[in-house]
Amino acid sequence: MNSNEMFRQIPKVDILLRGENMKRLVSQYGYNAVSEILQESLAELRKEAGKLAEEKDASAGAEKIQQDVSALNEKVEARLSRLFRPGIVPAVNATGTILHTGLGRAPLGEKAGVCVRRIAEGYSSLEYDLQSGKRGSRCDHIEQLVCRITGAEAALAVNNNAAAVLLILSALACGGEVVVSRGELVEIGGKFRIPDVMELSGAKLRETGTTNRTRLEDYEAAVSDQTKILMKVHTSNYKIVGFTESVSVGELCALGNRRGICVVQDLGSGVLIDLERFGIAKEPTVQESVAAGADVVCFSGDKLMGGPQAGIIAGKKKYVDKMKSHPLARALRIDKLTAAVLEQTLSQYLDMDKAVAGIPVLRMLTRPAEVLRKEAEKLAERIRTEIEKEKAVITVDACTSCVGGGALPEEKIESFAVCIRPEQISVSEFHKRLRMLPVPVIGRIEKEKILIDLRTVAEKDIQYLSEVFSDGMLYLPSGGEYEKRP
Ligand SMILES: *Cc1c(COP(=O)(O)O)cnc(C)c1O
Repeated sequence: MNSNEMFRQIPKVDILLRGENMKRLVSQYGYNAVSEILQESLAELRKEAGKLAEEKDASAGAEKIQQDVSALNEKVEARLSRLFRPGIVPAVNATGTILHTGLGRAPLGEKAGVCVRRIAEGYSSLEYDLQSGKRGSRCDHIEQLVCRITGAEAALAVNNNAAAVLLILSALACGGEVVVSRGELVEIGGKFRIPDVMELSGAKLRETGTTNRTRLEDYEAAVSDQTKILMKVHTSNYKIVGFTESVSVGELCALGNRRGICVVQDLGSGVLIDLERFGIAKEPTVQESVAAGADVVCFSGDKLMGGPQAGIIAGKKKYVDKMKSHPLARALRIDKLTAAVLEQTLSQYLDMDKAVAGIPVLRMLTRPAEVLRKEAEKLAERIRTEIEKEKAVITVDACTSCVGGGALPEEKIESFAVCIRPEQISVSEFHKRLRMLPVPVIGRIEKEKILIDLRTVAEKDIQYLSEVFSDGMLYLPSGGEYEKRP
């Protein structure tokens, strides 16, 4: 067979588009998308035919092309479905890591969902002052709430805490020096490094002290007439233990006051309630930092505060005003959906008990292990009814959850998990099958078992989990792959 004959086997685009299969796809996905994907697939086929025509065994080549042509419809449909399927889908977090960066950090809960929908669907008073009928600011209400909750004079919200640090340094220290302890030159995941942000802002980093010990004299010795900021950074994702010494924000503020230098604290996670009440390690709260005299503090919206992705800056009005009018503020501003959810999250902190009950991150963090044990037992019982005994061993074990999101790295929180040990397939294959479910279930593997840690499983997910397991997920079908996510 010569190459011409090989090419003749490949159908023409317009003829295919008139066929029933493609018509169906066109009505689902639209003409342009179908035609484009079809043309791409045909181009690949022609390229392959060209290659095969050069090979000796022409009839084998022709047969291969014939096969590819008959699989064309299926291939185009699969490609279209992949193209139109959202990349971000809801998932069940059964890892026990509350602020799981891969799974979207802080879940926001139903009330926030309602709030987003309300604002997303139409126009809103985002920057419109309803009293005066004039242009307003999207951060006004957020500012009022942050000030009331933290005791700060003024506040501002930006895209995330990395943006907050960049704006603070750019607006307050560009061209000058910023003194930071060598023990606090942190790298947060995702390439956020304090020294790099410093450079980007145009401020010069003045390191002081040593990795494990920094004293007030070190800060004093590092101060010059170039110093614009004395900065403290929360060592969120690591802990220096042993022979250590650091300076409290209060002591640093006393020095700042004496020398007329602004004191900034990057609190990282931004805790607004006393976690010790719930048996969790002491974290400095934003309120404490403001009360100790910090001129400017910043923290994340979607770490322990449990809100949307945002960076919140709070502090003395004269500094916050400088940031508000800095050109970067416009580039780093939050969008209307974030603003709406941030207001909603913050307003719950006006009553601390409401915050603990209503903000999913705080609820998860503070749920007693005993409650989780009962839930795990109920869930295990339901899963056992779905799965034959010889396919898996299902137990309820004590385990430890963690906070995640680079916060409280040492903190282990007692929890309970439903543990499933597959008997006929590997644990990693089982985990993969869980990830391929219509709503993926992300668990944690420990000792050849999948753990479904109840601490991070939302109530609405329990029903799904109690129905989703099946025998089919636990044996190896003969030949072929396990079914893919639709
Ligand atoms: C997490 C963190 C940041 C970055 O915050 P994002 O909101 O993720 O941008 C900055 N500084 C510290 C100390 C942090 O812990």
